[in-house]
Amino acid sequence: MTKRKIDLTIKRANELVTFRGSSKEPIHKKEMLDLQIIENGAVAIDDGRILAVEKTSEIEQRYKSEAVVDAKGKVVMPGFVDAHTHLVFAGAREREFEERLKGHSYLEILESGGGILSTVRETRESSKTQLAEKAKKTLNVMLEHGTTTVEAKSGYGLTVADEIKCLEVAQELDNNHRVEVVSTFLGAHAVPPEFHDNVDGYVTLVTEEMIPKVAEERLAEFCDVFCERNVFSIRQARQVLKAGTACGLGPKIHADEITDLGGAKLAAEVKAISAEHLLFASDEGLSAMAQRGVIAVLLPAASFSLMTGRYANARKMIGMGIPVALGTDFNPSCWTENMQMAIAFACREMRLTPAEAIAAATINAAHSIGRGQETGSLEIGKKANLIVLAVPNHSFLAYRFGVNLVENVVIDGEIVADRGCENGS
Ligand SMILES: [Zn+2]
Repeated sequence: MTKRKIDLTIKRANELVTFRGSSKEPIHKKEMLDLQIIENGAVAIDDGRILAVEKTSEIEQRYKSEAVVDAKGKVVMPGFVDAHTHLVFAGAREREFEERLKGHSYLEILESGGGILSTVRETRESSKTQLAEKAKKTLNVMLEHGTTTVEAKSGYGLTVADEIKCLEVAQELDNNHRVEVVSTFLGAHAVPPEFHDNVDGYVTLVTEEMIPKVAEERLAEFCDVFCERNVFSIRQARQVLKAGTACGLGPKIHADEITDLGGAKLAAEVKAISAEHLLFASDEGLSAMAQRGVIAVLLPAASFSLMTGRYANARKMIGMGIPVALGTDFNPSCWTENMQMAIAFACREMRLTPAEAIAAATINAAHSIGRGQETGSLEIGKKANLIVLAVPNHSFLAYRFGVNLVENVVIDGEIVADRGCENGS
């Protein structure tokens, strides 16, 4: 039998995590416990796509590969999909972090003109080139830590021109960087100072000028809103998401992060693809989400970074049948590019099992940004986006924390990181 020539084989994985059969729908409940592991598994890759996912012996019989990665004793799994980031912004807020250590709350800092508004000021003053340079570095770090697809929200411009500027930066990065960037328009992230006494006026600017322009220039796929007390009310959030839907932008919502405003319920009402944060979501809101199949994007690194001591009730959500996804919430008040940290926190603080956290960080995260058919699992025909971890089994990914366990990163069939790290496990 002549062997077919292919570009790349990843072989002899101690555990090959596949999530076979999960491309159509996000996985929920007990499905999240089954990683569909192949022991001594291999992945055959050609032309950027996955050709076969089998036992190593099977793959070796059928294919002759140009390049081979030997993953003996290691874990091979889908690349991480970071479901929630605020990728493009200027500056940093390390001083505010010190303020918070002294006991000032986020809303206090916000009310005194700090917090997000200082980032808005700096982002407005920055050029596209400056913003792109910085965001590119962020993507490089994300890639080194195994992230192959990332969602990126705008929301630090808050004028028509500055929101467009930030979305154009994200689009440029999607075209020029190996990591895929999926854009979400979040013009309703905060009320800019010039609209302090006229929040409805700002909502009108978002719905009547920003959203149509963003849609027309195809700068985002989704529209998000920060629905929170003293920011945007349920009524205003509904207005923003409906305007987005009318222009073809899928609804997403920052819901019930600091108070129970009813964001989870609104997410179900507008058939949002995801509701994010959900620390204070009511049972009523959660069961509405479960009924409508709204994905919960949970961000435990944000709780850790903000030191609120409160985390979303992921166990309850999984019990109710809500598909759970994870993101870093990378932003100036939660500066981590590393999905492995999100997994570590998800297990320790929300009691996800390692398997559930991995499902949340890959296939369910992919579904939460409309990429479930393309990435997030290792199945025939999908993009060859995968990582090799220098650990013997997937439990280590949750158990060992604060270090980078990723040895290789493959995006679209190409090895884009080869760290050659020591297998300390
Ligand atoms: Zn956010």
